Amino acid sequence: MASTCLFCRIASREIPAAIVYENDQVLAFLDIGPVSEGHTLIVPKVHAENLSAGSVQVAEAIMSAVHYLAPKIMHAVGAAGYNLGMNHGAIAGQEVMHTHVHIMPRKEGEPRSFVKTHPSPEVIMQVAEKIRSILR
Ligand code: AMP
Ligand code: ZN
Repeated sequence: MASTCLFCRIASREIPAAIVYENDQVLAFLDIGPVSEGHTLIVPKVHAENLSAGSVQVAEAIMSAVHYLAPKIMHAVGAAGYNLGMNHGAIAGQEVMHTHVHIMPRKEGEPRSFVKTHPSPEVIMQVAEKIRSILR
């Protein structure tokens, strides 16, 4: 699957992304169409179309990474909470058929928007650096 799947290609470093974290099982990088500052995707390194198609170990690895990363991402961008999202199947809005969870930080006073924005690559890299600096 690695040759055609976008997130497999990001996981294998064939396609660049604003990677903020990785461990043996998962990779986390910024969404290119963030709904809020710090909008991060966590993907397993092994291909699974959706949560149910992967092993329970993959599901555990994803949620374990959410548990570790979400508070640090919130801190990095000055958020007070976050939404977690997972679209399961095209009918549910899944566009990339490699399972992933969205962490969408929420700041006080900002609308809880789910509309994508289109920041420049430079801005995305600046946000990634804020998160990486908290993780160091
Ligand atoms: P979903 O609708 O849950 O499948 O979400 C897929 C997400 O992947 C969308 O929020 C896109 O903005 C995001 N996305 C698509 N291509 C890339 C990419 N090359 N790097 C980072 N995020 C991406
Ligand atoms: Zn894949």
